[in-house]
Amino acid sequence: MKNKVLVTGGLGFIGSHTAVCLYEAGFEPIIVDNLSNSKISALHGIQELIGYKPSFYQNDISNIPALTKIFEEHKIDAVIHFAAYKAVGESVEFPLKYYQNNIGGLLAVLETMKAFNVNSVVFSSSCTVYGEPDQVPVMEVTPMKEAESPYGATKQMGERILNDNTNWCNTQCLRYFNPVGAHPSGKIGELPLGIPNNLIPYLTQTAAGIRKELTVFGDKYNTPDGTCIRDYIHVMDLAEAHVKAVERLIENKQEEAFEVFNIGTGTGSSVLEVIKTFEDVNQINVPYKIGPRRSGDVVQVWAETTKVEQVLGWKAQRDLSTMMKDAWNWQLELSKKTFNN
Ligand code: UDP
Repeated sequence: MKNKVLVTGGLGFIGSHTAVCLYEAGFEPIIVDNLSNSKISALHGIQELIGYKPSFYQNDISNIPALTKIFEEHKIDAVIHFAAYKAVGESVEFPLKYYQNNIGGLLAVLETMKAFNVNSVVFSSSCTVYGEPDQVPVMEVTPMKEAESPYGATKQMGERILNDNTNWCNTQCLRYFNPVGAHPSGKIGELPLGIPNNLIPYLTQTAAGIRKELTVFGDKYNTPDGTCIRDYIHVMDLAEAHVKAVERLIENKQEEAFEVFNIGTGTGSSVLEVIKTFEDVNQINVPYKIGPRRSGDVVQVWAETTKVEQVLGWKAQRDLSTMMKDAWNWQLELSKKTFNN
């Protein structure tokens, strides 16, 4: 019998890739997603990759009766909790929506886990909890700064909630840096709704002619080329980190009930480096202009990865060129497909 892993938000960008990697590692993914920021086509992509349609529930995670039904129908061994809103700007405009979904949703998941005696969870956190760091790279022990947005506050609060529940629940808390790229098959990837906020989908849409030009948000920062620096991480590497985290929980290898890991490559890349790498690896020109700074942008952040390598036994394998190649491949596939839903 395979261990069953409930993947909340399992049709989202990271969730869908993780569902595939879980299956490949011998787990059975059970997916719950309300399709608020994803499409059913992701389920079809997963199905093509793993050869069968995984159990899928179209439910809101705040709906405890609906969650209860899933736990009644499946003996869940661990939960990976992705389902949350993730747009910083939107969270400033609609804070209630963010607190309701990201905090209320987490509480509902934990309540249901507790009721069914499921005590293993992987939590999607973010490098946003570090704010503008005094030093780079950031380590897991680097103190958090006050959150700059309701979104960031929900991630800090989520970590706190899990930390407060260690008397019954084991947590692997993964702080993601900037997830990009796509499955190399081009069958699943990121599906931004409307005009993308993030750099890579905006860049690929510009290269595809959907957007006229990319705006680089500021080039007078105190960095080598003046543009902001991030630790971009391939979504497949990120998905594989989740598999490691689930294995650690299920095999009872945790040293502490709440463990936190940085999930990044350990290398920072500037916005201009990203554009150049994309252009070089895909042999395509991306029109861009320098624009004003975007408010709230951190100047530079990248991960210190010693802990995750030594303790979790995970290290990113894919470089920026691979990320840009796979992101473009996905955009080309997307441009070919018509989504029904
Ligand atoms: N960025 C940009 N133009 C865009 C989108 C993003 O120059 O259209 C920059 C942004 O200022 C940041 C980096 O790209 O330095 C990554 O931004 P993204 O929104 O992808 O991720 P964040 O790190 O802000 O969560």
